[in-house]
Amino acid sequence: MHSAPQLRPPSVDRVLNWRAVAPLIAEYGREPVLAGTRSVLDRVREAARNGEAVDCSEPALAARLAAHLVERHAPRLRRVFNLSGTVLHTNLGRAPLPEEAVDALVMAARHPCALEYDVDTGGRGDRDDIVSDLLCELTGFEAATVVNNNAAAVFLLLNTLALRKQVIVSRGELVEIGGAFRVPDIMSRAGAKLIEVGTTNRTHPHDFEAAINARSAMLMKVHTSNYAIQGFTASVPEHELAALAHAHGLPFVVDLGSGTLADLARWGLPHEPMPQESLAAGADLVSFSGDKLLGGPQAGILVGRRELIARIKKNPLKRALRLGKLTLAALEAVLRLYRDPDRLAERLTALRLLTRPQDDIRAQAGRLLPALQQALAGWPVIVADAPARSQIGSGSLPVERLESWALTVHPATRKSGVLHDIEAALRALPVPVIGRIADGALRLDLRCLDDEGGLRAQLAGLGAA
Ligand SMILES: *Cc1c(COP(=O)(O)O)cnc(C)c1O
Repeated sequence: MHSAPQLRPPSVDRVLNWRAVAPLIAEYGREPVLAGTRSVLDRVREAARNGEAVDCSEPALAARLAAHLVERHAPRLRRVFNLSGTVLHTNLGRAPLPEEAVDALVMAARHPCALEYDVDTGGRGDRDDIVSDLLCELTGFEAATVVNNNAAAVFLLLNTLALRKQVIVSRGELVEIGGAFRVPDIMSRAGAKLIEVGTTNRTHPHDFEAAINARSAMLMKVHTSNYAIQGFTASVPEHELAALAHAHGLPFVVDLGSGTLADLARWGLPHEPMPQESLAAGADLVSFSGDKLLGGPQAGILVGRRELIARIKKNPLKRALRLGKLTLAALEAVLRLYRDPDRLAERLTALRLLTRPQDDIRAQAGRLLPALQQALAGWPVIVADAPARSQIGSGSLPVERLESWALTVHPATRKSGVLHDIEAALRALPVPVIGRIADGALRLDLRCLDDEGGLRAQLAGLGAA
């Protein structure tokens, strides 16, 4: 039984003067605690109206208020453990940045920096200059510019070079990238008219040739990054498209999607097209992402002929799509790492994760298995470790898999709902652990686990809960 006075909600003023609330005011400030008290008391009164008995004693209400404040003040952008098996997971922030990039980003955040300032002359500078020389050096193109992401890069290039004109693209390349980037939609929003040629599986040079007319702005190739067309297929190689475009005085433009500046085959990974190769094939302009296989921050990179890049930079929309200093700082640091390919796989986090040997991951799984078994001791499940296959992610190399190793959880009974409960419990940890349920098992792929001690501590918390 509750005693009557403890059931009646106190006044806001009284709560604010409680001894138990003083530390909350010290931590969060008076205004937030006042607002929090109001909302907690509102809920208590609501519950009382519904006939619920709510304990309104000082310890009980102060505890409710503390929980409310913790929840309201927790950052929405939280760190997680990505054990999903997808390395460049778009929903989990794609590429983790290397230390060099983190340091550069913190410097730019903390201090004034020469963002658009030429320290040699004291004159005004161009923020693109921070990375454009490096991009030219690494790709071989004459000029470069950078924007918010690759979707923005494609939009900007179309709006600049193809406004009220026609862009000829193979029907097999009209891709949709997760998160509502569809080539036809971007095209129309950019003010360009899409001319589709060929069929879904086969496109020939004469398809392009027949579509060229006085209103053509460019021939475009879109890298079909997140799917593969197999079987009876034909696409026109870049060098033929370039030659055809040039014969008609048109530029040949390539949206590489992911793109990478180093040949991934060197590390035993599948080859992904590089802007250098497009240049060799005769491309005039290439766009690619900063945070897919490049392993940098979210950015869209445009490299190409000087005259085309100059026109793109003059488009007023460039100003609306430009990069901020934090991104530029991180991007510059990442690009610098590419100057030394011999050490790239050690230093570039994304590449290090993609190239982690299976034995290494397996050994880690062996070390962590007892901790997970202990944490899940109370659940009707079988916890083990097993080979797994990671995906690269971000629509890169969609059919390739990387041999990996995972901790696995199988239901011990026929109640398979238990996996969803465990998956939810892992997500509810202070640092959420993101796994993946497929084929009747919950898998924690350890390829992307950098912080083994951190995960161990989280699992201990799960066992205690
Ligand atoms: C990923 C991708 C994009 C969009 O790039 P973001 O950097 O995510 O904006 C555009 N085109 C292709 C072919 C892609 O693969």
